[in-house]
Amino acid sequence: MTARRSATVVGGGIAGLAAAVSLLGAGWRVQVLERSTAFDEVGAGLAVTRNGMAALDGLGVGEQVRAAGHLTRAAGTRDQHGRWLLQLPGSTDPGAPTVAWGVHRQRLHGALLGAAAAADLVTGARVTGLVPGAPDGAPAVVTWTDDDGEHTVTTDLVVAADGIRSAVRGVLFPEVALRYSGWTSWRAVVDDDSTLEEGFAPSWGPAAEFGALRISGSELYWYGYVRHPERTPLADELAAAVELFSGWSADVRAVVAATDPARLLRHDVHHLPRGLPGYARGRTVLVGDAAHAMLPTMGQGANSSLEDGVCVGRLIGEPVAAGAPLAAALTAFDRARRPRCRQMARRSALTARFGAHVPGGLPQVLRNAALRAVPAGPAAAAGAAVLRWEPPVSPAG
Ligand SMILES: Cc1cc2nc3c(=O)[nH]c(=O)nc-3n(C[C@H](O)[C@H](O)[C@H](O)COP(=O)(O)OP(=O)(O)OC[C@H]3O[C@@H](n4cnc5c(N)ncnc54)[C@H](O)[C@@H]3O)c2cc1C
Repeated sequence: MTARRSATVVGGGIAGLAAAVSLLGAGWRVQVLERSTAFDEVGAGLAVTRNGMAALDGLGVGEQVRAAGHLTRAAGTRDQHGRWLLQLPGSTDPGAPTVAWGVHRQRLHGALLGAAAAADLVTGARVTGLVPGAPDGAPAVVTWTDDDGEHTVTTDLVVAADGIRSAVRGVLFPEVALRYSGWTSWRAVVDDDSTLEEGFAPSWGPAAEFGALRISGSELYWYGYVRHPERTPLADELAAAVELFSGWSADVRAVVAATDPARLLRHDVHHLPRGLPGYARGRTVLVGDAAHAMLPTMGQGANSSLEDGVCVGRLIGEPVAAGAPLAAALTAFDRARRPRCRQMARRSALTARFGAHVPGGLPQVLRNAALRAVPAGPAAAAGAAVLRWEPPVSPAG
């Protein structure tokens, strides 16, 4: 029996809490340092796809998230006028690869927070420095500040889950640069109790994508992903969105028009186009956007973060608690996660290139014609490969 190990998780978003839950399950002592004054989630909704739900099941909160969300399926893609470009066959059978659950991000985050309650959850704690330690030698040292000043904590494992602008990544990989995609994204939840059910079918227009997803019986989440210069404010966000989608289908216009301006968010979209050379350094492992911020065009950022979370427990927490060397466990994590997340990031970039990033005019006409010619069966099968993921079995058994 080895002594109880300690982990410090930097960041209490979806990736950090998922990692905390899986480490607690493996018997570790876990501290989560979150810079915000409360554990909360900014944002609107998201689609938990089959792989994300498999991760949530592995974390023990799948049923809770299913109950908090709305069962739907990927139905295909439309053009901006609402005409089908690709219509996918499929069912909402929970085992089908096209199945998804629309969920409010705060409800997903709340389920993970409840499951992480046994951790030492610290708010107002901004991590400012890290000594990554050595897997079979010196412990890691994390420096953080709060209203009382500077603190340090010595720990067996650091999980860097501090998001797209990760301070930990900046320390470990200062050469890796975040890149602006050229696109920005509005997101909002609107009250809607219509019973129209056709599945999730984003629309591709000129240099833009619009998607709406039911997240409960009375709420619809929508996003509008559009080309826009970085850090460029708009005088009236909702008026700009209404104007941009004014030539789109009546359904799109109606959802945008129903938006409460106070509930409309907009974020510039950045990513790590080349990924990282490794997800582990010293005693530190990187997860979520800190490790693999990807374009949102496959809807896999949060889903891959959930996968990371359960893998931290299965591939690091459980074997190390059973006596395996940390170095081997970190290598196993990197080998399992990096190729998969690179594949997702590349596919997201490819989807953007042939989807939302295609400008209007001839390129759009040609793309639409090509997509209409694609047989639905093989298209669904290609997407299914990524979604048919199951958490690994721990080598500790
Ligand atoms: C427009 C858009 C739409 C998207 N839609 C989807 C979708 O439909 N499906 C999907 O799967 N994904 C989607 N994503 C991606 C998804 O939102 C992210 O991939 C996911 O939230 C990443 O989670 P995270 O925990 O890694 O990071 P975050 O959610 O950013 O959490 C990081 C946490 O770390 C904290 N933190 C940061 N720095 C420090 C510090 N120095 N010290 C302490 N704490 C710190 C932050 O306060 C935050 O709580 C979308 C993204 C965008 C931009």
